Amino acid sequence: MASGKKKRRTEEENREFNQDWTESFAFIYNTDGLPTCLICHEKLAHNKKSNLERDFAAKHTQFAGKYPTGDARKKAVKELRKKQQQTGHNLPIM
Ligand SMILES: [Zn+2]
Repeated sequence: MASGKKKRRTEEENREFNQDWTESFAFIYNTDGLPTCLICHEKLAHNKKSNLERDFAAKHTQFAGKYPTGDARKKAVKELRKKQQQTGHNLPIM
């Protein structure tokens, strides 16, 4: 029952965008294959959780405070994604 529950540090290693990051850090995976911040539109060079985390923690504490995790955050991120799609650039793949 506990098998597979042990979390290995794969995030740093396989460099794949984790869809949870969209909600956690307001990042999407854009057509370039790079994570892009929905709030400041900063494009990061690597799919590294620590990089996303750093952008979010450094610049978007207000957002985090305004929309703590859960439904409020989910809704806010959804709105940001909608806006992003309307502007036409960095169309998310997912
Ligand atoms: Zn940002």
